[in-house]
Amino acid sequence: MSRIAIVGGGWAGIAAAVALADAGHDICVFEMAPQLGGRARSVAGADPAWPHDNGQHILIGAYRDSLALMRRLGVDPDRVLARLPLALPYPGEPGLRLPPGPPLLGFARGVLAHRGWPLSARLGLLAAAAGWLARGFRCEAGLSVAQLCAGLAPAVQRDLVEPLCIAALNTVAPRASAQVFLRVLQDALFGGAGGADLLLPRRPLSELLAAPAAAWLGPRLRLGRRVQKLEPGWRVDGEAFDGVVLACSSVEAARLTAGLAPGWSALAGGLDFEPIITVYLNSPGSRLPAPMLALRDGPDAPAQFIFDHGQLGGAPGRFACVVSGAAPWVASGGCAEAVLAQAQRELDWATPLVIDRLLTEKRATFVCTPGLVRPPGRIAPGLCAAGDYVQGPYPATLEGAVRSGLAAAQGVGAGAGTGANGAASGSPTNTP
Ligand SMILES: Cc1cc2nc3c(=O)[nH]c(=O)nc-3n(C[C@H](O)[C@H](O)[C@H](O)COP(=O)(O)OP(=O)(O)OC[C@H]3O[C@@H](n4cnc5c(N)ncnc54)[C@H](O)[C@@H]3O)c2cc1C
Repeated sequence: MSRIAIVGGGWAGIAAAVALADAGHDICVFEMAPQLGGRARSVAGADPAWPHDNGQHILIGAYRDSLALMRRLGVDPDRVLARLPLALPYPGEPGLRLPPGPPLLGFARGVLAHRGWPLSARLGLLAAAAGWLARGFRCEAGLSVAQLCAGLAPAVQRDLVEPLCIAALNTVAPRASAQVFLRVLQDALFGGAGGADLLLPRRPLSELLAAPAAAWLGPRLRLGRRVQKLEPGWRVDGEAFDGVVLACSSVEAARLTAGLAPGWSALAGGLDFEPIITVYLNSPGSRLPAPMLALRDGPDAPAQFIFDHGQLGGAPGRFACVVSGAAPWVASGGCAEAVLAQAQRELDWATPLVIDRLLTEKRATFVCTPGLVRPPGRIAPGLCAAGDYVQGPYPATLEGAVRSGLAAAQGVGAGAGTGANGAASGSPTNTP
């Protein structure tokens, strides 16, 4: 048994901690916030029964390791998540809808049945998807999503590619990595029955993982502890460990490794970020035509999606509007008022709609550009990084974070105690 420190208690740190504890290691989780969960947590507000989420989150059926981790901590995903077949309805338009059954067949049937697109657009999308499938969902690393999909009909780009891209990568199609986009499509649409299903939280986000993890970890968790210093050996703020998983943000991981592994630190510290704004609106007694609707964004319309929390089993009359790729709105301000006006224009409300709360996460995700080189999971013997930004096939997502946590646990568990001088390895190897 080795003594291992995990620095950071987001979904990546929780995944690493549980895996290491299950493998028989003596673990200690340092988390600087007063609670676990990182970016995927609830935020206390006026109503203690219904805290807001730090941002509306969507999981999909293909999030295999996140769902397994929830189960490991005693959380039944079917209780805390509503499972819906993939559908992208817009106000007044049914949009693309995948029928139940094998996703590959469902995708073809759903596209062919989409009467909002001309037949040529539907056939063009199916031909493109067949081409992606034939090439194993791989493409040139430097290609953007806009370039990949340039041949598709404008309606398909507007109603499917652009919303999926901004939702999954938080990066607009002209700047987004086609390779990462294809990987998301591959896992969602072609990764087995239910992989494309949308899993929408019915409960406050912290109940999905953070709170059960805190109970499970018990005294192995040190909240409110921002790790200041990491020294070879390994010492975390002077305390000796056989191995360390850095599951904090990339910015903090870069700071802690600056003197130990300058190359790795520079890669982690060089990532750019994109904000996400979530605007909560209230309208008691109102109900959307579906639990989740896509919206068309534009210069005076910030939001791309709106969620009906009452319909999902959450706070009645609460609606979460998601503004991804939100840098322009962070710069200009006025986002909440613009979202309110957009929702008033596009939807019917039983009672006057009011702004409830605006939450901005300035470093919501890294910008997922074509050919981006992300830092590898392995930093040095006995020292691994975990987090949604670590090298891997996924964009910044819960599943990417969890998988990187599992990989880091494996890497550090195997190497713990062997790297007493903590010399940094230069070669990126340990990808999730
Ligand atoms: C608004 C918003 C909406 C999102 N929507 C989705 C979605 O719909 N679907 C999806 O899959 N993903 C979504 N994401 C992304 C998802 O939340 C992240 O990918 C995931 O939570 C990252 O987890 P992590 O553990 O890698 O990092 P974090 O959650 O950032 O965890 C890092 C932790 O380290 C702690 N820490 C930092 N420095 C130190 C230190 N020195 N000492 C101790 N602790 C430290 C932090 O406090 C934090 O708790 C969204 C993110 C945001 C912000």
